[in-house]
Amino acid sequence: SAKAAGRNQFNFFDKQMNIHSERRIQLAQKLRHAIDNNLFQVYYQPKWCTRRSVMVGVEALIRWFDTEEGAISPEEFIPLAEDQGLIGQIDQWVMNQSCRDILQLHQQFGHKLQLSVNFSPAHFIRHDLYNRIADVLTQTGFPGTSLDIEMTETVMAAENDSLLKQLDQIRTLGIEISIDDFGIAYSSLSRLKRLPLNTLKIDRSFIRDIGRDHDDEIIVKTIIDMAHNLNLKVVAEGVETQEQLTFVTQYNCDQVQGFLFSPPLPLEKISALMQAQASAQLNEP
Ligand code: C2E
Ligand code: MG
Ligand code: MG
Ligand code: MG
Repeated sequence: SAKAAGRNQFNFFDKQMNIHSERRIQLAQKLRHAIDNNLFQVYYQPKWCTRRSVMVGVEALIRWFDTEEGAISPEEFIPLAEDQGLIGQIDQWVMNQSCRDILQLHQQFGHKLQLSVNFSPAHFIRHDLYNRIADVLTQTGFPGTSLDIEMTETVMAAENDSLLKQLDQIRTLGIEISIDDFGIAYSSLSRLKRLPLNTLKIDRSFIRDIGRDHDDEIIVKTIIDMAHNLNLKVVAEGVETQEQLTFVTQYNCDQVQGFLFSPPLPLEKISALMQAQASAQLNEP
């Protein structure tokens, strides 16, 4: 009967949920172990300036290579870390490590590559955020003027009065603020205007179908225009094809990031790219 079928289906979902929660419990344990034993790495994905065709910055992206499972995606463990209250420790570690790494490149190449780090919305609930960031800059010697913090739109959606104050404070360190994955969540334009921001990063779901979906093309153009009218820079995320690059460049998008240029790479590979770029510039007529 339909009722029995319904019950079976319920059992099925129930079982799936148990598997799901067992996985989460096991992963949460592994995650604590990984934090305590420093088992993470940071990879860096280049950001290219469309006008000058040079690498102007990198985004720090955490990597976790587990001895049993291999690579575990941040798409899986970052949300878990947020639920478990572990994200603060993780992001603090990433910020610290990446400031040390990129400072090495500054010293080696005499050129101040910008460093972007991802900050979970959970941070903006903390009142000591400013001090924590200032401490990292002091400890590492990294210049605040070369640091950029990426936060998602959800930070803005939550009516959080201290957010404005925190961002203003953070910006006194010379740090820039970017909105990551822009366009997928609801964000009020009036709020966007009120916040002290520097950059909008267009979510890669709008970039993906350039050349195939006219609506997405209009959205991309509109975001670029709007950002420029608000005096914000624009970065296109997830640029994978020449066609996408040509499109966003034509509409004056400032920077691009994506597999067309480079996937996230370990520090040594970024250093090699910088080296290649420096010698190409030397050889220019
Ligand atoms: P995100 O900040 O939007 O980072 C961009 C993601 O897109 C990265 O995935 C990157 O590898 C991927 N990507 C870059 N170019 C392309 C492309 O051309 N095509 C496609 N299909 N993908 C591309 P990743 O490294 O797996 O990170 C996923 C998300 O996890 C990040 O999205 C960010 O939200 C979060 N995350 C990563 N590292 C950290 C971290 O240290 N702290 C926090 N709080 N979140 C992090
Ligand atoms: Mg990001
Ligand atoms: Mg993004
Ligand atoms: Mg994302």
